[in-house]
Amino acid sequence: MFRRKLGKTHVPHYKNTAGTPAVAIPTPASVLLPVAQHIGAPATVVVKPGDTVKIGDIVAEASSYVSSPIYASVSGKVAKLEKYLRADGKTVDAVRIESDGLMECRDLTPPDINSIDDLTEAVRHSGLVGLGGAGFPTSVKLDAAKKGGIATLVLNGAECEPYITADTRTMLDDGELIREGVELLLKFIPSLEKIYIGIEKNKPECIEKMTELFSDCERAEVVSLPSLYPQGAEKVIVYNTAGIVIEEGKLPADFGVLVMNVTSVAELMRFVKTGMPLVSRTVTVDGSAVSEPKNLTVPIGTSVRNVLAAAGVADDDIGMVLFGGPMMGTAICSLDEPTVKTTGALTVLTEADARRREPTPCIHCGRCVAACPIGLNPTAYSKALDIEITDDRMKKLEDEKIMLCMECGCCSYVCPASRPLVQNNRIAKVQLRDFQAHSATLKN
Ligand code: SF4
Ligand code: SF4
Repeated sequence: MFRRKLGKTHVPHYKNTAGTPAVAIPTPASVLLPVAQHIGAPATVVVKPGDTVKIGDIVAEASSYVSSPIYASVSGKVAKLEKYLRADGKTVDAVRIESDGLMECRDLTPPDINSIDDLTEAVRHSGLVGLGGAGFPTSVKLDAAKKGGIATLVLNGAECEPYITADTRTMLDDGELIREGVELLLKFIPSLEKIYIGIEKNKPECIEKMTELFSDCERAEVVSLPSLYPQGAEKVIVYNTAGIVIEEGKLPADFGVLVMNVTSVAELMRFVKTGMPLVSRTVTVDGSAVSEPKNLTVPIGTSVRNVLAAAGVADDDIGMVLFGGPMMGTAICSLDEPTVKTTGALTVLTEADARRREPTPCIHCGRCVAACPIGLNPTAYSKALDIEITDDRMKKLEDEKIMLCMECGCCSYVCPASRPLVQNNRIAKVQLRDFQAHSATLKN
């Protein structure tokens, strides 16, 4: 729950690629498709080595309600099934496809949609997940609309992380798809009364384009938001556009709100028009080690090495690569890692910029507390982490609402002592989640 005035942080924008439409990279020799590219259960592999595939053929099907299928992003042959070690330490199955260089698509049929049930079912098969980075299956979000009571649609076009401009390009290059996608949602979710399109003020051309596209839609309002990080966080943008507080432990749907990233809406509409599932996406390549930042259209599963080569980034210049932006991105340990559905950016830093400053003792300045957008106390989590896991310590993490931390990184960014606060929070959340699961098992 919001307990006091929301914290907000000025971060540099570095939107160097805002004026650069995405260009397709050369066809990669192979792609690696992990079965877990979304929140929820990993998909189940349905191909075997030796199978031939075309773009859009299914390689792994959704294994449960909260899951998402994976589709071939190049044509060619299934070379092998591999194990893929993710940045979070979990190992998942992955399908290696060797490209035949032809980029042939399977025969496509647009879905026949006459109801919200049809739309949800179609989206379930599209492989679409939240493309803003969260990776929540879009069909599950739409399912909430089936139950009724969704009155507000918030389109997230804030794109508040430094460097990243993938959503900016969607709004400028595929704005019509967003407009058509909203029309589709209005048709099949009759309870929708209001649509807010939240965009930070540092994208005036996007605000102008969306205002023009939605000028004939009385229910739509383009909201020009201050360029303050993390404007695009779900709870923050819902509050700053619709004025609705998403309380602790609740989902936007509990308050009649559906939140969708602008690129997700565009991709939803592209699928409805063409039948092509999610097989590629725009990736911004920028950062201090990138001399010519670019937006690239990348087949999902392409290695980071291939994407960086297409962007002209030399291996010798690379100190660190992050999946995502510098605030919330995850450092990768190998350039052979595949880009996935949620990879909207590769931030590449020089050795000097990648070097962490040594943390010094906390000076109790309170800046981290003031910066937190949801009123948490990051120093409390650090204290709870200092000693071994016990019931008391885990209770303290629970009492201090660690699970509300959205890992935005504002606390670390403002800390004059370079304390690894968000890193601590990530570890603490994993510890608490495991502890709770273990406790639940013992009770049953
Ligand atoms: S990382 Fe978590 S604790 Fe730190 S500012 Fe963001 S939400 Fe608050
Ligand atoms: S910002 Fe850093 S130094 Fe200041 S109170 Fe927080 S952890 Fe301590």
